[in-house]
Amino acid sequence: MSNFYSKLGVATVINAADSYTMIGGSLMPAEVIEAMADAAQSFVSLEQLHLKAGERIARLTRNEAAVITSGAAAALTVTTAACMTGADEAKAKAWPLHKGARNEVVIHRCQHNGFDLAIRQTGATLVEIGDTEGTTAEQLESALSDRTACVIYFDTVQFAKAALPLEEVIRISSAKGIPVVVDAAAQLPPVSNLWRYTGMGADLVIFSGGKTLRGPQSTGLIVGKERYIAACRLYVGARNSIARPMKVGKEEIAGLVAAIERYVNLDHAAVKEQHERLVRRLCEGLNRAGWLAERVYPGPTGQDYPLAHVKPAHSACTAEQLSKLLLDGTPSILVALTPDQQGLTLNPLHLNEVEAEQIIIRMSKLLDEGRDERP
Ligand SMILES: *Cc1c(COP(=O)(O)O)cnc(C)c1O
Repeated sequence: MSNFYSKLGVATVINAADSYTMIGGSLMPAEVIEAMADAAQSFVSLEQLHLKAGERIARLTRNEAAVITSGAAAALTVTTAACMTGADEAKAKAWPLHKGARNEVVIHRCQHNGFDLAIRQTGATLVEIGDTEGTTAEQLESALSDRTACVIYFDTVQFAKAALPLEEVIRISSAKGIPVVVDAAAQLPPVSNLWRYTGMGADLVIFSGGKTLRGPQSTGLIVGKERYIAACRLYVGARNSIARPMKVGKEEIAGLVAAIERYVNLDHAAVKEQHERLVRRLCEGLNRAGWLAERVYPGPTGQDYPLAHVKPAHSACTAEQLSKLLLDGTPSILVALTPDQQGLTLNPLHLNEVEAEQIIIRMSKLLDEGRDERP
């Protein structure tokens, strides 16, 4: 497909999985690429650009303030550092922090995930509350102290089961003046999530720029209260700080502003209908070919869109083997497994009609192959 990738000998992949970083996150629409090319033609003050871009994004996302980072993972590092020092430039420069500084981040044990490293690389210690069965308000209250920098909350359906509701976390933490950071990296759609968490009282909320927003893969977004965003600003841009290795370029800043402008102005009802149509088409085509396909809802981490769950009616292969055959085949197709690992998940978020047909054709053949031979 792409001249650049084929010259380099790198295979392109049809993304029926999700906004996975390992295959490039998402694809940037033309408006985003144009904004980046435009921004590449002049020198500007990076600090002024950050400020103005933040103001524009705050308006577009109905928030008090906003700042751009080099990804949602970088935003975890930046928000942690910002909550450790506040908007104090001398402290931001003087890293590592002295003893007695606020260097603890409270996290639900059930929300623990690989992105913890982005928090811990500031030197902050994670203080875990609750277990895989549940968490009580008392456990949160007793974890909060004058050493607490912030409470981090990952809002996904998988992590929600044993966690306190976000409303309660905000109520308890705010009463003690401790900020709550929500990592909502992939929690779009609905578009209203861009302002829903801050509306609930969360102090800082993180989104990935390179997932549903379809901005540059190396961008992320923090929205929230001016007081805390002002502290985050000490950690982005050209200033030396522990987040200096996570700087974001002027082109990426322009790209993310354009992506957010585009996203908030989309006809969201039409996008929703497009997702439904793709899932319907995949289910029809695959059921006809001998798969057992059904629409499920919501999206992988609770987003407002449907998926197709697909199981082979007959096959000598496991779902994992089938997914590997799809990835290694032509065209190469990346799918996710169902939560029980017994079937495949097809995600419409980054698919078009042509690709959906390619998937149906390839998967129909795969079932025939899978009947006769083991991989
Ligand atoms: C994807 C993701 C991130 C990382 O996002 P990047 O923009 O790739 O850095 C962080 N947290 C959660 C919950 C995510 O899903």
